Amino acid sequence: MLRVDSIETFYGPIQAIRGVSLDVAPGQIVTVLGANGAGKTTVLRTISGVLDPERGRVVFQGRDIARMAPDKVMQLGICHVPEGRETFPFLTVRENLMMGAYTRRDTAGVASDLELCFGYFPRLRERQHQRAGLLSGGEQQMMAISRALMGRPKLLLLDEPSLGLSPLLVQQIFGIIRRINQEQNVAILLVEQNAHIALRTADYGYVLEVGRVVLADHCKTLMAREDIREFYLGQKEAGARGARRWRKKRLWN
Ligand code: ATP
Repeated sequence: MLRVDSIETFYGPIQAIRGVSLDVAPGQIVTVLGANGAGKTTVLRTISGVLDPERGRVVFQGRDIARMAPDKVMQLGICHVPEGRETFPFLTVRENLMMGAYTRRDTAGVASDLELCFGYFPRLRERQHQRAGLLSGGEQQMMAISRALMGRPKLLLLDEPSLGLSPLLVQQIFGIIRRINQEQNVAILLVEQNAHIALRTADYGYVLEVGRVVLADHCKTLMAREDIREFYLGQKEAGARGARRWRKKRLWN
C-alpha cells in the first residue's frame, strides 16, 4: 500500500533523514521506534507532504506522492494526526471534526462518519458544542484521531498518540486504535516513544537511529531481542552490561 523508498529529508542545511525505506501493507499496523531526534516525525511529515524529500520516493497505491501537496495526499486517503494534536482551540469540538472532512462533498457519508467517531469516543459527543481548547489532553487526542477519521483514511499516520497521557488513557486510546484498524480496515503507521505499547499494538516495526533504519522486523521478534529489551523496553533482566553499554552510547552521541 505504502512504500517509502530511500528518502532523504532536510530542514535547511540539516539532514534529518538519511535514506529511510519502509513498507506498510493494507490493513497492517506498522510502528516506527526511536529516541528523541531520531527522525520519526520527519518521516511522517515527508509521507503526508508537509515536507518534500530531497531524494527518494514515497509510493502510495502505485503512485509517487513525494512532493505532492498535503491536501492532495489527504484526498488520496492518507490522514496525519500530528504530534501535539494541532487542534483549533477556539472552534468547537464538532467544528474541529468537520475540518477533517472539508474536502468531502458526500454529506450523508460525512454525517455517518461523525456518528462513527462519536461511537468510538462518546466523550466527544457529550462535548461536541464546547470549545476544543477546554478539553483535557486525552480528549484532545481523541478529537485529533477523530478529525483524521473524518477524512475517511485508507492509511492513518499517528505521531505519538500516547504523549502526555496517563497509563489508563493510553490503554483506552490504543484499544480504540486497534478497533479502528480492524473494523474500518485502516492501515496505521504509528510513531511512538512508548515502545511497550507500540510493539504490542503493531505487526511490524522499524527502529530509527539518527535518521537511519537500524532494525526492521515483526514486533514479536523485536520484543524478543535482547538489545530492544534493554534499550527500548528497559527490562532489567536483560542485563546490567547492556544498560552500561547503552548509557555509554547515550553519553557519546
Ligand atoms: P521526537 O520524538 O523528539 O519528536 P523524532 O524522532 O520525531 O524526535 P524529528 O522531530 O523527526 O525526530 O527530528 C529529527 C531531526 O531533525 C532532529 O535532529 C531534530 O533536531 C531536527 N529537526 C526537527 N524539526 C526541525 C526543524 N523544524 N528545524 C530544524 N531541525 C529540525
